This record gives sequence, structure tokens and C-alpha cells, in this order.
Amino acid sequence: MKTIDKSNLDKIISILKKDGYTVIGPTVKDGAIIYDEIESTGDLPIGMGDEQDAGTYRLTKRNDEAYFGYVVGPQSWKKFMFPQRLKMWDAQRNGKGFDINLPKAPPPRYAFLGVRACDLRAIFVQDKVFNNGTFADSYYNNVRKNIFIIAVNCTQSDGTCFCVSMKTGPKAKQGYDIALTEIINKNEHYFLLDEGTLKGSELASKLNFAKAGDAQIKAAASAIMAAEVNMKRTMNTAGIKDLLYNNHDHPIWTEIATRCLACANCTMVCPTCFCSNMEDTTDLTGDHAERWRRWDSCFSLDYSKVAGGSFRTSTKARYRQWMTHKLASWIDQFGTSGCVGCGRCITWCPVGIDITKEVENLRSSPKIKS
Ligand code: SF4
Ligand code: SF4
Repeated sequence: MKTIDKSNLDKIISILKKDGYTVIGPTVKDGAIIYDEIESTGDLPIGMGDEQDAGTYRLTKRNDEAYFGYVVGPQSWKKFMFPQRLKMWDAQRNGKGFDINLPKAPPPRYAFLGVRACDLRAIFVQDKVFNNGTFADSYYNNVRKNIFIIAVNCTQSDGTCFCVSMKTGPKAKQGYDIALTEIINKNEHYFLLDEGTLKGSELASKLNFAKAGDAQIKAAASAIMAAEVNMKRTMNTAGIKDLLYNNHDHPIWTEIATRCLACANCTMVCPTCFCSNMEDTTDLTGDHAERWRRWDSCFSLDYSKVAGGSFRTSTKARYRQWMTHKLASWIDQFGTSGCVGCGRCITWCPVGIDITKEVENLRSSPKIKS
């Protein structure tokens, strides 16, 4: 373990940029923390915090100069490997037929700065979706294999976090090149640095570091523990697959549907949701056509449209599908829960529907006990 002074963060960014990475980190836009390209620590939300609860999000001002004094915002890192809209190919008429053109741009080379433990796990979950032995998504994998990941351990939790229940945080355990823990006390502001890969060690060796002492390692551990003990939400995951599978006809789904707007916000903000649709377009001359992949959602009526109509016409069926997939059938499909406990679906649900509470509601009156 090493410690680095906060001035090293700019050094990390400039080394990565020199190495050809586009550095993506947290920044503020439209009143929220989002992930975008950053040039220096000046782009980070320094001194900002956030407050989150069901259907509630607001940025706050902290009384210190923390670089990572907030938790996750509405966006996740998935948009960089699995973009909202992606051109698959275009076709241009060439007299008798068409030339099909595949995108030629080389995949971007990203360095992610500030990946929280829950989101690190979400990347692992999406790896299983987009490269699972049977199916490999070439765009995802071409971007994914080059990403440099700098995790940041959470030292505070927010009102909708429940990563402890999902065993995904608040400490990043694997999947990072380096992991940082930000420590701020009366006289000091520094980071504990943990190396996860050879690439991470190479980067760390170029910084002005010191060997971490016991006191600094303990300070980092207790800061992470504070995030854990202050976590307000929990989800009891014992037997959760059977709970969902055995309660397909529970009245709770009808009740949730009286609140759910089927707006799809929960799926758009979820770092693991992966539904997409294809759109084909042509210009007015019919000489040029394009195929685009765009994010879709199990909450949209068209998503379940097949020959003969949609097979998930009610909001009740769509919410039940989402929650059952996320917490139960995902495990059968990919060997892992589809939920990492980031809390985004709770924060960004306009009517404050809370997946942890709905699990509790199912447990308190299950049709078939689990
Ligand atoms: S279901 Fe909700 S809490 Fe779970 S990973 Fe998705 S957005 Fe986060
Ligand atoms: S649960 Fe909330 S966010 Fe999700 S579709 Fe329903 S109203 Fe929208």
C-alpha cells in the first residue's frame, strides 16, 4: 500500500492522457454528477456532496475540498462500453446494389477515474452479459479490453445505497488497476493507493508516493467502515430467487402498477440493464440506409412486441418482469444477481418506487413462503 498527496491526481490524469487514454471522471452537469471526459482535477466536483432518497437527488456543498465527496449520480460507466446509440452499419446504393460499410473508427481507449465498488461490480456483471462464452458483443469487448480503471472506495453512503446487502461495496475488492481511498482530516488530505494490476503498479511507480503506515491504512479502513455502518437501506437476499419465482401471481404486482408510470427511468439509470433495439432508417432518395442500436427497456410496450402483438401489455407485467429478471432469473442466466445495490433506480424513480421495499413487501406477505 502507498499514500499519495492529492496533487498526484493531476499527475495520474496527465500520465494517462500521455499514454493515449481519454480520461473519464465525475463532473457536474445539469445539477448532477455525471461521467464525462476530464482534462484535470479542475473538472472534478471538488467540495460537492449529494443527498439522495427515493425520488430525490440534490447536490450539496461540503465543508471541505473532497474530490470524491458524493456517491453515484444518474449515469453509470456502461454508456462508454454500451453506448445509448451506436451505428452498426450503413448502406450506400452503388448502381445495381448496395455497399455495406461497417464503422471504421478504432475503439476509444478509456481511463475511468472514480469507479465506485458497486459500479465495478456492475462492469463485471455486464462483462457476463456481453462476453459470456456463447455471445460476445464486439463493440463492448473492443472498448472493455483497453480500459484502465481507477476505483475510489466510498467513505460515505447516501440515502438509497444498499451495496452492503448485495456484497458489492463500499470497498472495491477486484477488477481495478488502482484503487484510491480519500482521507481528509484536520491537517491532511491524501489518498491511500492500492495496486490491482501490473498496469496499475507501473502507473503508481511514476507518482510521488510514500509507503503507507499502519495509521494510514487504519484511517482508510475506518473511513470505508463509516460508509458501511451509515448505510440506510438494506435488502434481504436470502432465497430471493424462489421468493420472486414463487410469487408471480402475488397481488403486490397489481398494487405497484397503480404507482409505476412505466417511464423506464429505472432501467435507463441501472448500470447493469442491457436491453437494446435496432432501428433502420433510409434517406428520402432510398440511396442511403443506416442501422443503429439504441438502448431500450422492458418497460416499453414495443420491447415485447412480436408477431401478433405485445406479450407484456400491462405495467404490472412489466414491473414484475424487471424485478424478477434483476433479482432472480439473472442469476440463472449469468450466475450473478443483476442488482449491485447502487440505489439509482430508487433515486431516479419519479414516484419513489423502492426495490428494497418491494422485496420486503413480498417477504411480509408471500403467496408461497420462501
Ligand atoms: S436494480 Fe437499482 S439498485 Fe440494483 S443495480 Fe440496478 S439501479 Fe442499482
Ligand atoms: S419503477 Fe419508477 S422509474 Fe421504473 S418505470 Fe416505474 S415509475 Fe418509472
